[in-house]
Amino acid sequence: MPKVATTATPGPDWYRRAAQVRGRAVPPPAAQASPDQPASRPRRLLSNSNRNLARDRIWSWSIPALAARLPDGRTIRTCPSAGVCAQACYARSGSYTFPSVKNAHLRNLAFAVQDPDGWEQAMKDELTARRFDGAAVRIHDSGDFFSADYARSWLRIIRSAPNTRFYAYTKEVRLHDQLLQPECPPNAAWVLSLGGTQDRRVDPRRHRIADVFPDEESIGEAGFHSQAESDLLAVDGPAPVGMAANRIPRFQRRQGDRTFGQWQREVDQQRRARRAATGSRTPERAGTSS
Ligand code: SF4
Repeated sequence: MPKVATTATPGPDWYRRAAQVRGRAVPPPAAQASPDQPASRPRRLLSNSNRNLARDRIWSWSIPALAARLPDGRTIRTCPSAGVCAQACYARSGSYTFPSVKNAHLRNLAFAVQDPDGWEQAMKDELTARRFDGAAVRIHDSGDFFSADYARSWLRIIRSAPNTRFYAYTKEVRLHDQLLQPECPPNAAWVLSLGGTQDRRVDPRRHRIADVFPDEESIGEAGFHSQAESDLLAVDGPAPVGMAANRIPRFQRRQGDRTFGQWQREVDQQRRARRAATGSRTPERAGTSS
């Protein structure tokens, strides 16, 4: 396993770009690492605790949804292109808010950010276990590809484990078009999920898309295909893909009878109208309204 990056052997600098540090420079990784840091790292990186996924031999990798503050004080936007989805995010409620679960996801993120080479190697090592032969890995039960270098690490990990399938929902449309799709290994597949600030870049004629509907019935009515039987249908079944929103009352109230894609279009239209009225320019990512 490669050693932790030091100032003498600078590692990838993507942690700097991922880190959102307010008003101060980002110190190099060695300055943030402590001697006991490895001990606090997760023993296992991939989980099969999600029963819905485990029944199909799907393991998952999770990092905090939307954003998280690392123990060293840096805040990482883990879903940089989250839009309306952040207002009804399944991964910000229920069991995801249990301290043990939150801490586990934070430890995962800290490992990936603070020691990207070590994390990548640890993931490759873990995937050599026999239990992953013929199994699938969902990248990001929560979270998203938060930087290009992190995505590149995943592409190398995927290539190192040809007997395992990998898939991910993502709202990072640009990253998908520029990196993930062009360099997609044969054992990986992606689906673009709507409800993000890059939705306007999505083209159903060339993209595989997924949308979140208020309920199961509305999926079929819209000509979408439910993945309720197996999450793998998101990448293996017919497209476009639909999924029913989680039954969380406050989220259901916010979403109403629209899909995430429709909701995001409404928000985008309102923003364009405001911009036209004021003559101001608003960055694309400002659609995250939570
Ligand atoms: S991208 Fe997914 S995990 Fe992130 S905020 Fe949106 S719904 Fe939650």
